[in-house]
Amino acid sequence: MHHTRASFVLGHHNELAKVIHCQVGEPTLLVTDLSPFHPQSHLWPDQPGDMGRVCWEGGEAKVAPCRMGAISPAGELFVDLDIPVKRGEPGWAFVVVHPLSGRYDLAVGTEISLQVDSERRLALSLGHSGCHLAALALNRTLVPYWRKEVSERDTLDQPDFDRLAIQTSRVEPMGSQEQYRIGKSLRKKGVNGEALLAALEQIESKVNDQLAKWLAAGGAIRRSRAGEAIIDSRYWHCALEGQEVTIPCGGTHVTGLAELGQVRVQLAPCEEGFTLITRVTP
Ligand SMILES: [Zn+2]
Repeated sequence: MHHTRASFVLGHHNELAKVIHCQVGEPTLLVTDLSPFHPQSHLWPDQPGDMGRVCWEGGEAKVAPCRMGAISPAGELFVDLDIPVKRGEPGWAFVVVHPLSGRYDLAVGTEISLQVDSERRLALSLGHSGCHLAALALNRTLVPYWRKEVSERDTLDQPDFDRLAIQTSRVEPMGSQEQYRIGKSLRKKGVNGEALLAALEQIESKVNDQLAKWLAAGGAIRRSRAGEAIIDSRYWHCALEGQEVTIPCGGTHVTGLAELGQVRVQLAPCEEGFTLITRVTP
């Protein structure tokens, strides 16, 4: 058994594929050899799974948000947090799980047409691209709040506050919500937490100014991948300030900054840090 070949990174919404596993139940869990559906990551569940529909000769079904799965050497399917092994464990196949509403007994080898809900995909892609841009603008704005040189740098060679402080990230249709924590270790690394948290309003407006500048300049977004298997590394590239920046990312994205229209953030204090809400208005 092989890992699912994933085509969402190519921007695909439709594929013809073959059933490689079907677990009948409520929902029925369908696995195919190839899929255009983006599954929510079980390791860093930032972007919700794609929804849509599948059809086969004589039937069709709705697809609920897709999840990651892994099939053991004995043929048992484990879904999301129940996956007991690391990616790449010998003998295990990592797969996209399509939960179908209803009970369907589809034989291995059955031809299936898979169709992603394009409208929802686009809304999430806008949200995810906006989220990356907001993180880079936040890192830029927070440069003055570092007291020491820090070795963790982002793709623009800025201190990577986003990566070091982020607790959770949730991509939503046309936006995202991130939670940042300024704990002991981050203060030790040199973040001036008191000054930063006292200046959230000014930081918010500077982040918004930076976002407006980048969006006015425009720039192409493209994706790349180390391979076609769902567990192969994938990357986000964006033309920004005369260079192409790169962020490892498993999600879906739009193809250029022009599609984003306007991106604005809101910062609010929360326990030991702050939340950042990003809204995209295409
Ligand atoms: Zn991402």
